[in-house]
Amino acid sequence: MTENETTPGSNFITTIIETDLKANIHNGRLATRFPPEPNGYLHIGHAKSICLNFGVANTYNGTCNLRFDDTNPTKEDVEYVDAIMEDVRWLGFDWDDRLYYASDYFEQLFAYAVQLIQAGKAYVDDLSADEIRQHRGTLTEPGMDSPWRNRSVEENLSLFQGMRAGDFEDGSRVLRARIDMAHPNLIMRDPTLYRIRKTRHHRTGDTWCIYPMYDFTHCLSDSIEGITHSLCTLEFENNRTLYDWVLDNVDATCHPQQIEFARLNLSYTVLSKRKLIQLVEEGFVDGWDDPRMPTICGLRRRGYTPEAIRSFCDRIGLAKRDSVVDVALLEYTIREDLNKRAPRVMGVLRPLKVVIENYPEGQMDELEAVNNPEDPNAGVRKVPFSREIYIERDDFMENPPKKFYRLGPGREVRLRYAFFVTCTDVIKDQTTGEVIELRCTYDPTTRGGDAPDGRKVKATLHWVSAAHAVDAEVRLYDRLFSKANPDEKEADKTYKDFLNPEALEVLRDCKLEPCLADAGPGYFCQFERMGYFCVDTKDSQPGVPVFNRTVTLRDAWAKLQKKS
Ligand code: ATP
Ligand code: MG
Repeated sequence: MTENETTPGSNFITTIIETDLKANIHNGRLATRFPPEPNGYLHIGHAKSICLNFGVANTYNGTCNLRFDDTNPTKEDVEYVDAIMEDVRWLGFDWDDRLYYASDYFEQLFAYAVQLIQAGKAYVDDLSADEIRQHRGTLTEPGMDSPWRNRSVEENLSLFQGMRAGDFEDGSRVLRARIDMAHPNLIMRDPTLYRIRKTRHHRTGDTWCIYPMYDFTHCLSDSIEGITHSLCTLEFENNRTLYDWVLDNVDATCHPQQIEFARLNLSYTVLSKRKLIQLVEEGFVDGWDDPRMPTICGLRRRGYTPEAIRSFCDRIGLAKRDSVVDVALLEYTIREDLNKRAPRVMGVLRPLKVVIENYPEGQMDELEAVNNPEDPNAGVRKVPFSREIYIERDDFMENPPKKFYRLGPGREVRLRYAFFVTCTDVIKDQTTGEVIELRCTYDPTTRGGDAPDGRKVKATLHWVSAAHAVDAEVRLYDRLFSKANPDEKEADKTYKDFLNPEALEVLRDCKLEPCLADAGPGYFCQFERMGYFCVDTKDSQPGVPVFNRTVTLRDAWAKLQKKS
């Protein structure tokens, strides 16, 4: 990728970085990292962090590591590790040879913990998790010291070795920092550093049965890797004191600066891995890459491009206060990108057959269509026209109200790139009364879409020749939630109660232009007037294409009205 594409706008973090680089702190080096926990797939919120960390590294000639924060073996899996790497690469970022795992540091971390014990700054506590909670105190009351807080260094060392050796059961003991049970910041009230978990780890196997906690692991991993600026989301603001305490109390060579920024929240979306996992596991969606999901792989399958996601992350900027970004901005960004790049073709999603009675049977016209008016290099193609065509069911009304300008009995409209047609007859199902076919006549002098006598029509419709049409399944996607803030507490309701039942509509009888016969995975286009679509990467088969709607066209109808 080119520099320009990744240069983030200036913000409070780039200001800090520039100041530090000028002052030659860390010898003028910039090193960041993206530290996902492999306990789920990445979502659009992670993209913000990825674009920030890799983006500033690119801009200021620094480096950005990919580090798996894999310290919780009960929730983590290689499936997630692989998916995360694929997603970061797909977004357009590269960690070169700087792929790290916190689990690779387990031995070093253990040695750092021993340092703390030796300095009288950590102790083995026999209280249960519940008791520790009860001893913690509150924002207004100090906590209480554990009866085990004053164990000797020797006893602590021996117990900690015993913990490592597997001598004790899960939950029977922990290692805690010995800081201050009356500290105004609750996180500093003797935080747990290690716990016993006799669980196999996806990388270290059965080597370890004690695992370090996030607050202990993260700062030391940053330090070991020589990170200069450790960028994280606001909820870690209170943890910064502990981050600094750990680094100040062990013999660490590098002390990175933790800087917090506001996480991305999106309207009509949940961005918590815990909740996204529930949607997958409880079958509300069809996997992590369901195109309704705000995951990177879901967005990819939906037809979002890495360019659009990066541009979205640039646009939302970086703030120090939490806010909610309107999902319409994300939709706008993909429209803007696809508008320039997506070829325009015709696809009829809910077909209504039209027979053009004065068009000779067996004849075919090849009409010239512009591939993308926004892109002069996109060229033109031929579209076949014949006696029987399909139009969109919604483009006809038997008794059109005042503002409906499309087809109705006796009305004349333009068929895009083709001819003017006039509706002469309406054929209905005898029993249901449903309109099943229209009869029209066409005006051969209007070939290409203009009448030589200068007469105007009020609407232009898309269409597909029946004999040449490609049959396809089309999946129309909409927002996953019907409530702007699905996380908001409401009497005995959870976010799951606000799932949008109309987020997916499957249409199985769609008729597409013949040029789409061979469209394979990765192909994207605009179906004129209907939105942007892409070929589904999982379910599409040669000859039986499945298209996903990425996003609708805003004001599509208004624009076409103006042109005609
Ligand atoms: P979640 O809240 O979805 O469970 P997490 O913070 O637990 O996310 P991690 O794998 O720990 O997930 O996140 C890796 C990095 O991505 C962290 O630095 C985290 O701060 C950042 N991140 C996670 N969610 C967001 C978000 N919504 N906006 C910006 N950055 C985020
Ligand atoms: Mg986390």
